[in-house]
Formats: sequence, C-alpha cells, structure tokens
Amino acid sequence: MAKRDYYEVLGVGRDTDPGAIKRAYRNLAMQYHPDRNPGNGAAAEKMKEVNEAYAVLCDPHKRHLYDMYGHAGLEGYTQEDIFGGVDFGSLFREFGFGFGNGIFDGLFGRRASGRRGPRRGADLRYDLSVTLEEVALGVEKTIEIPRVSACSSCNGTGAQSDGLETCHRCKGAGQIVKEQRSGYSVVRQITVCAECRGRGKIVKKACEDCQGKGMVETKRDLKIDVPAGADTGYNVRVESEGEAGTDGIPGDLYVVVNVERHPLFERHGDDIYIQHDIPFVTAALGGGEQVPGLGGDVKVDIAEGTQTGAVVRVPGQGMPRLGKRGRGDQYIVLRVVTPTDLTREEKELIRQFQEVRQKRDRGKHAKDKKV
Ligand SMILES: [Zn+2]
Ligand SMILES: [Zn+2]
Repeated sequence: MAKRDYYEVLGVGRDTDPGAIKRAYRNLAMQYHPDRNPGNGAAAEKMKEVNEAYAVLCDPHKRHLYDMYGHAGLEGYTQEDIFGGVDFGSLFREFGFGFGNGIFDGLFGRRASGRRGPRRGADLRYDLSVTLEEVALGVEKTIEIPRVSACSSCNGTGAQSDGLETCHRCKGAGQIVKEQRSGYSVVRQITVCAECRGRGKIVKKACEDCQGKGMVETKRDLKIDVPAGADTGYNVRVESEGEAGTDGIPGDLYVVVNVERHPLFERHGDDIYIQHDIPFVTAALGGGEQVPGLGGDVKVDIAEGTQTGAVVRVPGQGMPRLGKRGRGDQYIVLRVVTPTDLTREEKELIRQFQEVRQKRDRGKHAKDKKV
C-alpha cells in the first residue's frame, strides 16, 4: 500500500501554519485515540498514520524535506528519527488523554520511557538603545523582530495564482516509481522527481512578492517596557519570541538594554555627575548657579572661595533606584573659568583690585618681618 500524503492524512493544506497543524492533529487524535476505540485495530492503524504525519509536519526541517522530496526525502530516517522530536506523552496530557496503560507503547515507534523532551528553539538577543532621559522616567519602546513566514500573496507556493502547473513528468506525484522484476520478486524503486524536485508542481510564473521563494521576511512589532532606573545590561525576557523550535516550542527573546552616553551627564550606578563651569567672580564671592539636571535645571549655592574641582552634591536628583523607592544623587564638579574677553573698563577694575591686594600683601610682609 502506498503511503498517503502527510497533509492529506491530517486534512490540512501545504501552507498550514504550525498551530493549525497541531489543532488538526489534536482533532484526529481525539477521534482515533485507542482510549476511545478499545480493541479497534483499524483505529490504532489510523492513529499510527496520524502520529507519523504529525511528527514530520511539526518539525520544520523534516517538513521542508517532505515538501521538497515527498516521502523519499525521509527515506534514510529511522522510526526514532521520525518520532524522536515529539514528546507524545506531554502532548497527550495536554490534550487531556491518559498515558500510561501501555496501549500506546510501540504505536509511536518507541516506548514511553526514556523519551527525549521536545527541542526548544534558540533564544535570541536584541540590543535596545535608550537615552538616559528615557530611562530616568521609564519608557515603552517598540522594537521590530524579523520573522520568516509563508508568503501570503501565493500561500507559500512561490507562484502567481495561475502560475502553477502540475508536473508533466510525475503527474503531480512528486516521485517516480520504477518497478524492476527479478525472478519472482518485484523491486519497486521510488525516486524523487527531478523535474519538480518532489513538489509535484512547477512554477511557471514566479510570485512577485517573494520572487518564487514562497517565504517572506516579515517584521513584527513588540512593545518593551524599560523600567525607570534600568542600566546598561538590564534585560527583559519575552517568552516564546525566539527562534521556532523543532516541536513548535520557540525559544525566548532577550532584550538587552544599552543606555547611550549622555553629552552632559555621566552615570555611576544611581548617581549622576556633571561638570559645570562657573565665572571666577562667582567662585570668589559665592552665589547661586543654575545647573542642568535630569528633570530640568537645579539651583545650587556656590560657596565663597570655590576652587576648580570642588564638588557640590544635590541629594535625590540622580537616577531612580530600579525597583525601589527614591533616587540617587547628582554631583556637580565645578570648574572656575578665567574670562578671556575683558573690556578696558573691566581690566582697569581688576588692576585696581590687584593694587589693593598688593598693598595688603606688603603690609602683611612688613608685619611678618617685625616678628
Ligand atoms: Zn509569494
Ligand atoms: Zn515532478
């Protein structure tokens, strides 16, 4: 008896997505499961056929081989290879069937014990850049995740609507059967049709949207919440948004935050540092200064006689503490600036200051000599 087409067994189209394949399998398993058909040999056979079709079609690699070459594509596969990727035990528990009375041993090509778990797809990493201002308040970012999916214009066939023809060589079977008689036995040799590479159809007019590939790369938008106070290296795990797995179990996506360098502020943990220039008069006499802060300018008092390198601490004006109350501090590192654009009048005033200063210094020296 020739093997039936796996898609036909599950009653789904060739472009069906993994979720729908699983649903189709579930419906058939409900129908033919030996629990519901005790002693029914035909149902058991049917179940076996359905299991095999599902084991192949739920695995992207095996499905691809099957799509390309039909049954011949899996010729070298053992039962273990075919069924190995599916954990029928957990699948059946998920469907609400029992699994442990031994009826199914052998039905799936291997015994219930010692089965490998389903293979998860790989985790993916996405680096997300945010500004210091954004992370100071917390921000919701939308990121684009590329995905490969069946082309919707051609339903994954790779052809325009009238651009698909049944292969003339294999008449759409995808394979060519040769019978060779040797003595009393007949040897059937099945080969993949070279003309259509097992697809049974030939693309005469390629789909313009996918250039005949049948697959397109689409982008999917995901919203990511970056909490206030997150720092470089903080990561958000998005479940099941990684690579597709062999058993339809995708990996996870890790969005790793990178806080961009800020032109003014330097961050150390929850504290921020800023360098700020003050005029030499303010440094000498003291006074108020407006200094940029994360949430707008902050007003600070500069003490009389401030030197370059002096640090002013403004409590609670740093970054929010991640997952906690309160904020870090802002540190202002001061630099005294000498004016370079003095007018004649200003220069005269400074010379007067200099004279007063020198007189005072001479008086001081004279006093020192007397001692
Ligand atoms: Zn297409
Ligand atoms: Zn062909």
